[in-house]
Amino acid sequence: TAQEPTYKRVLLKISGEALMGPQGFGLHPPTVERIAEEVKSVHDMGVEICMVIGGGNIFRGLAGSAQGMERTTADYMGMLATVMNALAMQSSLEGLGVYTRVISAITMNEVAEPYIRRRAVRHLEKKRVCIFAGGTGNPYFTTDTAATLRANEMNCEAIFMGKNGVDGVYDSDPKTNPDAKRFEHVTYDEVLQKHLKVMDASAIALARDNHKPIIVFPLDEPNGFKGVLEGKGTYTVVR
Ligand code: UDP
Repeated sequence: TAQEPTYKRVLLKISGEALMGPQGFGLHPPTVERIAEEVKSVHDMGVEICMVIGGGNIFRGLAGSAQGMERTTADYMGMLATVMNALAMQSSLEGLGVYTRVISAITMNEVAEPYIRRRAVRHLEKKRVCIFAGGTGNPYFTTDTAATLRANEMNCEAIFMGKNGVDGVYDSDPKTNPDAKRFEHVTYDEVLQKHLKVMDASAIALARDNHKPIIVFPLDEPNGFKGVLEGKGTYTVVR
């Protein structure tokens, strides 16, 4: 396993689907709780944590537009879905005694703080987990781009991509090809050229241009997140 330095501030990106558990849709509170416990275990190490959660378990802009909905409207609906997921995660984390803030790219003051960079940095310094909701606030983007953007803005040392059912980046699909090989390290350009499943292309390019390592690790493995920070477990580093 690749040896990585200990991180002081990281961004954890998970998809909305990570929160739906065995259901095919929506939020599964025990699953949200389990992920919150993983986050808490890393928070307990003194690591400052940013989170970005997708919205695909509730609504995806592309799916809406494929069914005839206006694309930007559908994308705003997707962004709103990420706010619901952020609130669910906030509730679970606070239930475990971890202080949090939900910070939305779309202002909705009754529900979440507006995004003010310096304020968010201060929350991190005070060891509050910052859950960035509403994606980038712009249609035609994804929460992968939002994750990279916030990781850059917050000076996170790395972007942690938690995946279900896979423990890193492979040269082909390990579910269909038994000879698929997992990378310890892979470059951004190789990910782009070979269309490896890490993040969408604009998010990869944004991470590459700002030298932000992306760590793909198994979210459904117990201690999968914490393991990477301790130099244990299996994962792939994109850099
Ligand atoms: N979205 C957007 N701009 C953003 C982030 C998200 O328009 O900056 C919309 C987009 O429609 C997307 C949906 O929100 O389909 C949910 O986000 P995403 O698909 O990234 O969620 P995930 O696949 O990670 O669950």
